[in-house]
Amino acid sequence: MNGSGTMPQKKAKKSIREISPIDVYSLLPRTNCKECGESNCMAFATRVVNGELSLTACPPLHTDKYRKEHESLSALMAPPVRQVTIGTGETGIAVGGKYVLQRHEFTYHNPTPVAIDVNDLMTDEELDERVRQISGFSYNYIGRTLTLNAIAVRSCSGDPGLFGAAVRKVAGATRLPLILCALDPVVMEAGLAVTRGQHPLIYAATGKNWKAMADLALEYQAPLAVFSPQDLPLLRSLVRTLLAYGVTDLVLDPGTVAEDGLARTIDTFTAIRKQACRNFDELFGFPLLGVPLTVWTSGELSEDVLKWREATMASMLLSRYSDLLIMHSLDGWVLLPQLIWRFNLYSDPRKPVSVEAGVKSFGRPDRDSPVLITTNYALTYFTVESDIKASNLDCYLIVTDTGGLSVESAVAGRYFTADAIASAIKEFGVAEMVNHKTLIIPGLSARLSGETEEATGWKILVGPKDSSGIAAFIRERWSAGS
Ligand code: SF4
Repeated sequence: MNGSGTMPQKKAKKSIREISPIDVYSLLPRTNCKECGESNCMAFATRVVNGELSLTACPPLHTDKYRKEHESLSALMAPPVRQVTIGTGETGIAVGGKYVLQRHEFTYHNPTPVAIDVNDLMTDEELDERVRQISGFSYNYIGRTLTLNAIAVRSCSGDPGLFGAAVRKVAGATRLPLILCALDPVVMEAGLAVTRGQHPLIYAATGKNWKAMADLALEYQAPLAVFSPQDLPLLRSLVRTLLAYGVTDLVLDPGTVAEDGLARTIDTFTAIRKQACRNFDELFGFPLLGVPLTVWTSGELSEDVLKWREATMASMLLSRYSDLLIMHSLDGWVLLPQLIWRFNLYSDPRKPVSVEAGVKSFGRPDRDSPVLITTNYALTYFTVESDIKASNLDCYLIVTDTGGLSVESAVAGRYFTADAIASAIKEFGVAEMVNHKTLIIPGLSARLSGETEEATGWKILVGPKDSSGIAAFIRERWSAGS
C-alpha cells in the first residue's frame, strides 16, 4: 500500500507464462555446443522456460564473454517472489522462489518448510527430547518421505545467556536449519554468536529495532524476517529501508492473527502475494512467513481445540500463500495433514505422480504364484502394495506405464488396454517367471477381460475393485497353474 492505503500498481516484467523459448534463446550463446546436455540451444531454452533446467546448466553463459546476456537472462527468469535460503548444506531450505499466484498457472517451487518451536525456558532434557522428536519425525507417503524441516528457537526468558545456551544446545543436537526468535537485538546476538556460518533466519526486524537487526544480519550474513502485524504500509516501508541499508535476504511476516483473525490473515497474505505475482511489486516480492503457533496465545481453550485450530490455520496458510510455517504441535494428527497437503500442492500439476513400470515381487513368490497387474499411478500402486504386504501374499505385480493415471482413468483414456497389458507381459518377461498363464486384472478394468484374453493368450481373472479385497480373492479363486 502507499501512504493513502492503496496498493501501488507496478508492472514492467513478464510473467513466466509470457516468456517464450525465443526470449531465452535470443540471449543464449547460440553455439549449439551441447555442454548443457541438450542437443541445441533452442532445446535448452524450451526446458528453461518449462522450469525443467536452470541457467546454471549452460557453462558458456557464465563466462565473461556473455556477462551482459547472463544478467539479462537472470533478470528475465527471476521469480517475482525471491528465493531465500535458510541453513546450509543438505538440510538447508529454500523458501519462496514463486513464479505464479495459482499453482495451475505453472507449478509451485520450494515446498513450504515447517518449523517447530522450542524455547529457552526448557530444561536440557526437554530440549533434547523435543529436538529428537522434531528431527526424527518422518512419514512414508506413496513412496516419499515426509519430514519436518526446521526448528524455531524462541527467547521466552529475554535473557541473552539463556537464549545463547538454548541455541547452542539445539544447534549441537540437530542438522536442521534454525530460526532464531527474539526481538531484542542483544538477545539475538547471543544466538547468532553460537551459530556463525549456519545461516539461521533472524526473527525479526520491526519498526523499533530494524537498524540493530539489520546490522546483525549484515555482520552474520543471515537472512532477516520483517515483522509488521497487520500493517502493510509499515511493512513496505521497512522493506524499502532494509534494502537500501543493504539487507536483501528478507522474509515477510505480516502477522498471523489467532482466534477470529483467520480471514483477515488470509486476506493480508493474498493481497501481498497478488501484488508480487500480478504487479511485480518488488517490495512485496519476498517469501511470506505464517505462524500458526500464535493460536497457542488463546489460553482459555483446551489443548485439543488449540491443536485443531493450529492445524486449520496451517492448512489455510499453506494454501494461501505461506512460504514458511512456524508451528508448535508435534502430534501426528496435526502435522500429517499439513505434510500430505504440502506434497500434493507442490507436485507438478502437469505430471501425475507415478512410479516406475516393471514387475514387483512380494514375499517369496515361486513359479506357481499369482500374477496381478495395475497401473503406475503412485497412489494406486502404493495402495495395492500396502494391501498385498499387509496380507503377507507371495505374488508378482506387473506395473504398467499409464503415464501416471489410475486404473479407471487409464481405461477410459485408452492407456490401460488389452494391447498395453500384452506388451507389458512381453516386455517384462512375465511368462518366463511362472509356470502358468493366468493374470488377475483390477476389477475396475473388468471390461478389458475378453479382449485381453485374446491379445495375450492368458486366462484372465477379474480381481476386486478395491485392492483391500485381493487377499480374500486369491484365497477363494486362485489355484496354482489354473
Ligand atoms: S551449453 Fe549453452 S551454448 Fe551450449 S548448447 Fe547448451 S544452451 Fe547452447
